[in-house]
Amino acid sequence: MQVHSASGVNLNDEDDKVVWKLENSGKFTTRSMYRCITFSGVVDVRMMEIWKSKVPLKVQIFLWMAWHDRIQTAQQLRKRNWNGSKVSKYCGKEETVDHLLFQCPIAMVTWCWVRDNLGWSKSPTSIKTFQENCLGTAGGSRNNMLWWIIASVGWALRKTRNDLVFSNVIVKSPKQVVYKSLGFLKQWTKLSKDWSRMEGVLLKLKEGLSSW
Ligand SMILES: [Zn+2]
Repeated sequence: MQVHSASGVNLNDEDDKVVWKLENSGKFTTRSMYRCITFSGVVDVRMMEIWKSKVPLKVQIFLWMAWHDRIQTAQQLRKRNWNGSKVSKYCGKEETVDHLLFQCPIAMVTWCWVRDNLGWSKSPTSIKTFQENCLGTAGGSRNNMLWWIIASVGWALRKTRNDLVFSNVIVKSPKQVVYKSLGFLKQWTKLSKDWSRMEGVLLKLKEGLSSW
């Protein structure tokens, strides 16, 4: 299934193929991306942070779409006249972007693991609270690490949800989402300029898992 978004990007849900529509050639260029994230000459600084984070392009696009409320949640699919259910298949509540990424019970458990092992006082409960309580001043060095965390948790939740909706695969325990997130974190750590810091965070998250 392919859903066209107003952002000029198509995320093909079954194979995660990303097609860049901003250039006629379908090829991705920095120039076209820059055009896309500036509006009347004003740059969205948060979005610039996403593009600078060293996670795969398809994940950057996923975050960008989440931040603009355009990922394919049940709510979004309904807006496009999809006939499926508009509720989360995990808990029966309406599936919005915030629900998928923060409020569904499996998302909440995953964020508790992050919170407990990184010593946060509370878990984010929405994009807004992640923005306000977790991310610091735009461009701050800690933000890079935070984008990397939300990228992996979000990507793991998205994959878990798609496995259920499209392939009927149910996770046996929320810990499986945690393991998936860890897998992505590990994979992407090596891409980061901030390698040693990321490794420290990764270690804390891993260590915490045994007692959790
Ligand atoms: Zn749910």
